[in-house]
Amino acid sequence: MSQAKLTLALSKGRIFEETLPLLRAAGIEVLEDPEKSRKLILPTNRPDVQVVLVRASDVPTYVQYGGADLGVCGRDTLIEHEAEWGGAGSVGLYQPLDLKIAKCRMSVAVRADFDYANAVRQGARLKVATKYVAIARDFFASKGVHVDLIKLYGSMELAPLTGMADAIVDLVSTGNTLKANHLVEVEPIMDISSRLVVNPAALKVKRELIRPILDAFAQATA
Ligand code: AMP
Repeated sequence: MSQAKLTLALSKGRIFEETLPLLRAAGIEVLEDPEKSRKLILPTNRPDVQVVLVRASDVPTYVQYGGADLGVCGRDTLIEHEAEWGGAGSVGLYQPLDLKIAKCRMSVAVRADFDYANAVRQGARLKVATKYVAIARDFFASKGVHVDLIKLYGSMELAPLTGMADAIVDLVSTGNTLKANHLVEVEPIMDISSRLVVNPAALKVKRELIRPILDAFAQATA
């Protein structure tokens, strides 16, 4: 029988970079740089551990369906994934740890010349463009603000600039992207950081491989 192998799903960029030190703390070194390689499966110094590179929004899907045993993804991605599957708890992903990496916030932003507070006060119906439809819907519903949501897949900053939307809901880190596009952050919605997600069946079957990684991650993020 071949040795059980552990597969970790990561997305390129900030999550990959900020997960590397945690992997190192667990004794795992990724042997190739995704920025230099076209490979989608990266070997590690451990023959029984490999990393697969997927789109950030596909990480929960890979882990849910067992394409990966565990993964790292933003709280934003998880909330949207759960909403697609009928709400939190319905997906069955084990979420043991907030890794406190790739921190940012989800916020409402508008053109600098748009009086958001006044529009809300007057009960105006707002056109809101976002990739994060579930988060935006819940947020505005909780405020009692009527919105028409426009689903976009990227470059949300363009929507208010072209007149397509009054506001956007997007991730903000330094605020530089908003500033460069003459947008202002008017209301924070939630703090975001990346979480570890684990396939519950894998946790049972590959417990002796997964447990030490969970422990090392927990210690490194404590
Ligand atoms: P910033 O200019 O630093 O405020 O970054 C904002 C841009 O980076 C937006 O386009 C966001 O969608 C994206 N962004 C910022 N932080 C994150 C994160 N932690 N994960 C994914 N995208 C992010």
